[in-house]
Formats: sequence, structure tokens, C-alpha cells
Amino acid sequence: MRINRNRIVEIAKELIKYKSFTGEERYVGEYVSNFFENIGVEYKIFEKEKGRPNIIASIGGGKKTIAFNGHFDVVPISDESLWETDPFSPELKGNKLFGRGSFDMKGSCAVAMHIAELLSKEKINGNLQIQLVSDEEKGAEFGTKYVIELIKKGKVKKPDYVVIGEQSDLKIRNGERGILVFDIKFRGRAAHTSNARHDAVNSIVLASKAVLAIDKKIDKFHPEIGSPVISVNMISGGKIHNQVPGECVITVDRRTIPGETKEIVLKEIKEQMNKVLDKKNYEIMNIFYEPANITPRDSPFIKTVSQTIRDVLKIEPEFYVGRGGVTDARFYRYMGIPTIIYGPMGKHAHGPNEYVDITSLEKQGKVYLGLIKNLL
Ligand SMILES: [Zn+2]
Repeated sequence: MRINRNRIVEIAKELIKYKSFTGEERYVGEYVSNFFENIGVEYKIFEKEKGRPNIIASIGGGKKTIAFNGHFDVVPISDESLWETDPFSPELKGNKLFGRGSFDMKGSCAVAMHIAELLSKEKINGNLQIQLVSDEEKGAEFGTKYVIELIKKGKVKKPDYVVIGEQSDLKIRNGERGILVFDIKFRGRAAHTSNARHDAVNSIVLASKAVLAIDKKIDKFHPEIGSPVISVNMISGGKIHNQVPGECVITVDRRTIPGETKEIVLKEIKEQMNKVLDKKNYEIMNIFYEPANITPRDSPFIKTVSQTIRDVLKIEPEFYVGRGGVTDARFYRYMGIPTIIYGPMGKHAHGPNEYVDITSLEKQGKVYLGLIKNLL
């Protein structure tokens, strides 16, 4: 059984042609369903909302299940003039396949589909599940999160292992930072500008002091995930030019590492602000939190993945410890399922001239085949 890189490119090109922005995944979903239909692989379509398909294909049976998960929604084009090719007319230049979604992550979806095609007539030990989903780019409520609801209800078989083909430079991404987003509302005292030095407390000034106190490098490090990071990303305050603003709100995005909880982080932030502000001047509100999550390096699953990479690619596996954002992997890790990201090389995900490296897709495919053999 051999991975055919030209075939991966062909499938990826078809996928890239669809303008499957998040919320508009219907037609790419039809293409994917037809693909499985044509190769005679069993599949089901699950939609939490009409026109938002999640396609789950299944090959084999038996005890253990490995799932390859990928999303086929893409982010919009912000400035088409910056593209050197038409983002929806995929172009292969040397080893690079250009187009919106090539890297994030239709190239990977094509790898999984190609593997389904290779194995469609084979007998495999255990069960291969391929999940191609909607809505990854906007929180996954209609995508992987919904698939997990179906797993919990027993409508989709619960995988023993999950591999997600998001970009990872062919390194093992075995954990990711958590996300803690919240607002801080600053209360001053509104007054006419002429009284700015008498009666007023300017809430924008309060917010500014707080921003400078909290928006900085954090001196912590987790060997498998990296450092936490904080950024103040939104601010609003003031109503009119001649009134000292009484209220100002900022939105803070803080990414956490294992060992940090919501409580620990918020306490740290309050301590930093209390050095420059009176605590009665601010209030933390609208807190959203999903913890950091990890499948440990010394777990049997990661050991098998590492050995597979050694066997197949003849290289020592590397781990991806980086600045990645959150992925659908977190939902599976919260369920206790061993999960990794393992995906291609490329550049400019979400930006102009996005491309995926074709050789890395081919290698990804070889490793995926190896995982099926070694894990099932
Ligand atoms: Zn992605």
C-alpha cells in the first residue's frame, strides 16, 4: 500500500475550490459525501444545523477505533489584492500548493480521504473513523463539539485515539494552552472636561494603568506547551468629546498552561492591578475559560506515535512546543481520549498566499498509515 502524492494533491485541489467559509460548508460537504459514496466507504452525515455537515466515514470494525479529524471550513479572504493566485483556484508551484485552506486544513482532509480510498477494499484490524467537520474556525459548536455530543449519546463510536491534521510541521503536538477571556470594567467619575482635574476620575486613565500593568511577558514555562501569554485585545470607553469618561471596558485574552487555573490567573492579575489602582475602581466580568490540556509524552499512545514516526520516516520524532492556538483536540482531551495534532508544513494560514508543502502531506499520509497499523 503506497501513498500517492499526486492523488492527495488532486483531492486537495477539489476541496480548495469550494468557498467553504465557516457557516457555508454545505457544498464542500456534498463533495466529501460523494467521494465516500464513490469509493464504497460507509459514511454518515450529521448536521446540528441544516447545511452545516459533519461527515463521519468508517472502515473496518473490531475493538479499537482511531479517528482522523479535520475541518473543511475556511476563514474569509481579507484582502484579495495581496494574493498572487486566485485563493479558490488552487495552484501547484513546485512543492507548494496555494489556495485558501490548503494549509488550514484541506490538505490534511485530502490525506485522510486518500487513506480511506487506499483502505476501502482492505481488511484492517479495528476501526478507522474519518471525521470531516464544519465550524472549527468559530468555536466548533456545529462541528467537533457536536460530534462529541453524538459520541456521548452513543450515535457515533467513541474513538480510542484521535489524530487531528492541523498544522504541526510534522511534529507531535500533544498539548495546548487553555483560554481565559474576560472583561475588566473600570469605574471612574464622569464630569465636564473643565473639571478634569477637580471632580473627575477618568476611567480611560484607570484602564491605561491596568493595561500597562498586566500586558507583559509572563515568566512561566511548561516543557510540553511553552509559556502562557496575555494580550489586551479590545477597549471601549467614553461617549462624547467634552465629558471625562466614567466607564471603560477592556477585553483580555490570557492563554494558560497546565497548573494554572482560572482562580490562580485572576488572582495574579488582580495583584498586578492593585499595585497601580484601587480595587474599588474595577470589576472583572464575563469570564470564559477552557483549561490547558495535554496527552502526556510518556503515555502509551504518544510512545506508539513516536515509534511509528521513527519506523516510517526514519527520523527521531520532535514535539511541537509553540505558539499555537486552541484546536478541536481540546474537546477530545477533556473527554479523556488520547489525542494529538499531527499535520503538515506550510505557511500563511488565515493570511494571503496560504500554501501547504506537498511532501509534508505525503509524509503525513505515511505516518497515518503507520498509526493504523500500529494502534489497531
Ligand atoms: Zn484549522
